[in-house]
Amino acid sequence: MKKESILIGAPMGDIVGSRFEFDNIHTTDFELFNHECGYTDDTICTIAVADAIVNGKNYRDSLLEWCRRYPHPMGGYGGYFRRWISSYDPQPYNSYGNGSAMRVSAVGWAFDDYEEVMTQAKMSAEVTHNHPEGIKGAQCVAVLIFLLRTGTIDKKDTEQFTNDIFGYTIPSFEEIKQNNSFNETCQGTVPVSIRCFLEANDFEETIRLAVSVGGDTDTLAAIAGSIAEAYYSVPPEYIKTTETYLSKEMLDVISKFNTKYNF
Ligand SMILES: [Mg+2]
Repeated sequence: MKKESILIGAPMGDIVGSRFEFDNIHTTDFELFNHECGYTDDTICTIAVADAIVNGKNYRDSLLEWCRRYPHPMGGYGGYFRRWISSYDPQPYNSYGNGSAMRVSAVGWAFDDYEEVMTQAKMSAEVTHNHPEGIKGAQCVAVLIFLLRTGTIDKKDTEQFTNDIFGYTIPSFEEIKQNNSFNETCQGTVPVSIRCFLEANDFEETIRLAVSVGGDTDTLAAIAGSIAEAYYSVPPEYIKTTETYLSKEMLDVISKFNTKYNF
């Protein structure tokens, strides 16, 4: 079913969460957008993966191209990833950071076959995140987007499915509120993001919950937003506001991606 826009859930979560990454809040009562918000590495890498798919580039080259073009995003890049970007011959570094999961959403929209989604998610991850947990995090997020957007699984089946297929135990929201600290791993981020989606009743609440748990807020909200977008729709006014934060070339990729995959 055609949506107002796709591939905007991760950028919106990233932008909303950006100002809380190093200044956590523990409430859902905050202004979604203000002048302190901006896109971070999560948006840049999400666009890079989408660009690779829609314009037939390989994931590695597209990530390098985009990240080198935007060398100093708000919040910066993780240390190893920064080194990867600037090295002469960038090689995978066995990462299980949440970077593979936050950038993967385009895969869940572009491919229409479960095995292909799994394969492409792995390919998008392993150029940097070739640790099994790094690959798993990307596959889990992409597959959930694919299955939720196609109605293959319902929201209520998501937790069981995630546990059966990926072995993740999704912590309760209460546990998360009590324990969540800054955690940049896939296995520490993906299950928390999924719980925010499960706990919420709409797209906006998903983003608000993801920010409210604290920790790596922009990435948590980017991943939760990318999953929630597949099940709900992003309210049109939020799509428009998100777009005002993005560069023209980012919007061009989102537009082309929508033309090809949003129907
Ligand atoms: Mg970030």
